[in-house]
Amino acid sequence: MKAVVVRAPMDFGVETVPDPEIPEQGLLLQVQACGLCGSDLRTLRHGHPRVHFPWVIGHEPCGTVMATGPGYRGPYRPGDRLAVGTLAYCGACAYCQEGRYELCSGALQIGQAWPGGLAEYLAIPEPFARLGNLQQVPDDFEAGLAGLAEPLAACLNAQEKGRVGLGDVVLVIGAGPVGCIHVRLAQARGAARILMAEQVDERVRMAETFAPQAVIHTGREDLYAAVQRLTGGKGADVVITATPSPAAVGQALNLARRGGRILIFGGLPGGESHQALDINAIHYGALEVIGTTVFAPRHFRLAIDMIISDRLGLGSLITHRFPLDDFCAGAGLALQGKVLKSVFYPDRSA
Ligand SMILES: [Zn+2]
Ligand SMILES: [Zn+2]
Repeated sequence: MKAVVVRAPMDFGVETVPDPEIPEQGLLLQVQACGLCGSDLRTLRHGHPRVHFPWVIGHEPCGTVMATGPGYRGPYRPGDRLAVGTLAYCGACAYCQEGRYELCSGALQIGQAWPGGLAEYLAIPEPFARLGNLQQVPDDFEAGLAGLAEPLAACLNAQEKGRVGLGDVVLVIGAGPVGCIHVRLAQARGAARILMAEQVDERVRMAETFAPQAVIHTGREDLYAAVQRLTGGKGADVVITATPSPAAVGQALNLARRGGRILIFGGLPGGESHQALDINAIHYGALEVIGTTVFAPRHFRLAIDMIISDRLGLGSLITHRFPLDDFCAGAGLALQGKVLKSVFYPDRSA
C-alpha cells in the first residue's frame, strides 16, 4: 500500500510499504481521509520521543471496515465507516479506574505505538479496538470532517475544565485550527465575547471567518494594550493558549482579569518549556492556571456527535484537500502556516 513514511526530521515521503495484516482480535480499515494536525507538524519538524523513525504517522483518520480478525468481539462489521480518535487507554491504571481516562498513564496512540492513518489501510489492533476511541459515522458523511472530532474532543475537555460559560470574555491566543475550534466551542457554551490573537497575516484573515468579535494582529499591535482596550481595562475571564509559543504562554498571565482562568492548551517544543513566570501575577491576581491535554472517550463521543450534526459549523476549517500522493506538497504548505487544516485522501473517489 501507499503510506506517508517519515524517515527523519524533515525527511518524509509517500512510499510503498507492505499492507498491514488483519489483527487477530482487531479490525482493518480502508482509510478514506486523514487530517494533518499541529502535533504531526511538530513530529515532521523535530521528531517525537515516542515515534521511532522510519514510521507511518497520522492520527486523525476516518475509514471503512474492510475486515475483522477471527477473534474480534466488538460491535463493528465490514462496511461500517469509523472515525478513529488517536488514543487507546490502558483501562488498568489508577486514573482509568477513577474514570479519568484523559489522565491515563499508559495510553497508547495510533501513529505512535502503531502505524498511523496517512496510508491506504490502517490496522486497528486489539488494545485499540477494545479500549480506543472508535465511533461510527454515517456512510454518506464526508470522511475528512470526521477527523475533526479528535482536536474537537481535546477542546471539549479543555473548556470543560476551564468552565467556559455564559457571559465569559474569552481570549484565544493562536488562530490555527484548534484556536478556531475553541472560538466556535466558546460561542456554543455561551461566551459573551471572544477575542483572538495571531501574528501570521494569512491566519488573521482565515480566523476572521470564524467570527470572533476581534482578531488582534500581534505582528502590528501590542497584545496587552489591545486586550486592555477591548475589555475596558479588565482583562479576559478566560485565556486559552492555542499556540506552541513560549512567549504567548508567559504573557497569558497578564491578559486575564483578576480571578481569571488560563487554560494551557498548546504544548511547547521540548527544551522551551522552562519559562520564568510572574508568580505574583498568579497570587495577587487570584488566577487559576489550568493545564489540559487530550480527552476521555466521552469527549470523543460528544465531538463526533457535534461534527455529524454540524452544530459548530467547522467545515470551513478544512481549507486544503489533497490526494495522499501529494502529501509532500500539502505538508509543505502546512509547515509554512499557509493552511488551517489540510486533509489527505488516499483515494479521491472515496
Ligand atoms: Zn490531532
Ligand atoms: Zn490508564
